Order: sequence, then structure tokens, then C-alpha cells
Amino acid sequence: MKKHSDLKYVIIILFILALAVFGTLELVNRKQSTLQEVSQTAASSSETSTSAQTPSEPDTVSETQTTEITSESAVSETSQVISNIVNERVTNPDTGRYIVEVTDDNWQLVVVSGTREFPETYKPELDEIFDTGKYLDARVAPHYEEMYTAAKQDGIILTPYSAYRSYERQKNNYNHLTETYMADYHLSRKDAAKKAATVILPPGTSEHNLGLCMDICNVYDSFVNQKEYTWLTENAYKYGFILRYPKGKEDVTGIVFEPWHWRYVGVEWAKQIRDSGLCLEEFLDQQGIAY
Ligand SMILES: [Zn+2]
Repeated sequence: MKKHSDLKYVIIILFILALAVFGTLELVNRKQSTLQEVSQTAASSSETSTSAQTPSEPDTVSETQTTEITSESAVSETSQVISNIVNERVTNPDTGRYIVEVTDDNWQLVVVSGTREFPETYKPELDEIFDTGKYLDARVAPHYEEMYTAAKQDGIILTPYSAYRSYERQKNNYNHLTETYMADYHLSRKDAAKKAATVILPPGTSEHNLGLCMDICNVYDSFVNQKEYTWLTENAYKYGFILRYPKGKEDVTGIVFEPWHWRYVGVEWAKQIRDSGLCLEEFLDQQGIAY
């Protein structure tokens, strides 16, 4: 009887030992596979970050990042905000300028300049100013006609001198001048393009390519002494137009004083900008409006 119960204990102990050994083995196995997973994850994520940081193509990278964020986000708001920020920082690798998207929300206050260009794909819808053969953005043309008519009643003729110019035309003129400089001065394309930019604004950087502005009457400095200029400074804001490149703001706008160049920003903004005495860029900064 005693022997029998001893045997029972031995069997139980052996069983417990076996369980313990089996359990330890299983634990070791799991540890190993976890380690493997961790190292695989580390390896794959380091591949991702390496490829995401290829220094030679920073813009391609940010585009890729934007696409990924948008498609994955099936639609967390945070991701959407991030993708908007990334979009705003996209630079054209050929020109070094920010690419400015023109939208239904920002078109009135959109700023293009020597450091900011809109993409060639943007085409404004146009409308003719009376039957002059001159065109403006269809949202602006009626306001110019209204201003023209009001001025005429005061004996002032606001002749449309230079209105919308297509992106393609601007590009052809600019490229033509660049190539002329390359030949005449034996400059590299980059240097010739830089020199050309002091004479003709590069495509996508001129408000004339957007159809949002008009050079009125002529493009002479003496326009500042004409009664048409005086009338504009007193009345243009009522129709939504501002003097875009004022005297004394050359450092901000990057453009010399152009008394003939009037830009549409909408009646509400035009009044505020005129009252502020600021140029468009300064006004947007002051209001905290991102542009
Ligand atoms: Zn102009």
C-alpha cells in the first residue's frame, strides 16, 4: 500500500516536471518569435525612413507623403490638416518658388510674386471687357465694367491697356528672352533666366496670368500725374480694386511702384486694405490670413 502511494507521488512529480519543461520551452519559443518580429519591423521601418529621406528629391517625397496621408486617412481630420500643410509647402524644383493653389476660397486675396507661382494647370474662366478684345477673370470683368461706367460719368476714361495674358504667352515671352540672353551674354540658362526675370515676370508669377488685374490707360510713370490715377485712388475701392504695387512698398511686394496696375480683391477687402494704408502682403500678415 505504501509502495503504491509512493509511485503515485513519483508519477505526479514527473508530470509536474514535464509540464514545467514544456512550459519553459514554449516561453523560449515565443520570445524568439517576438524578437524576430521586432527586428523585422525595425528593418522595414528603417527602409521606409531611408527612402522617405532621399535628399535629391524632396518635393517628390512630400507629394508621396501627402498622397499616403490622404488615402490612408480615410479620414481623420488631423491627417487632412497635415496634408494641407504639406501641400502649402510644395516648391517647384525647377524654379525654387512656392506653388500656390488658386481656389474658390482664396482667389480674391491670392498672392503670386517672385517667390510664389501658381501651377500651369490653373485656367481662369474669362469674360471680355465690353467689346475691347481684352479679357479678365469672369468674376472680375463685370466689376471693371461697372467702374469704367462710373468713371465715364465723371468724364474719366479708364481705357483697358493690358488685361489677362495667358500663362502660355507669358512662358513663351519669358523663355524667348532667356534664350536671347543666353546667346547674347553667353550665360547659363539659370543665369539668363534670372536676368530675364528682371524684365518679364516668369509665367505663373504675374497677376495678369490670373486675370485679376488691369493696367489702366498706359504703363508710364507719368500716369501718377493723370486725372485717371487720381480718380482711381479715390474711387477704385468701391468697385473692389486696389493699387497693388504702391510707392514705398517695393521691398515687400518686390515690384516697383506701378500706378497703372489695379488688382481686384472684392469690395469688402478693397475698402479695408485701402483704409489700412498697407499693401496686400502687409494687410494679410496683419490680419493673420495665411497666403
Ligand atoms: Zn500690370
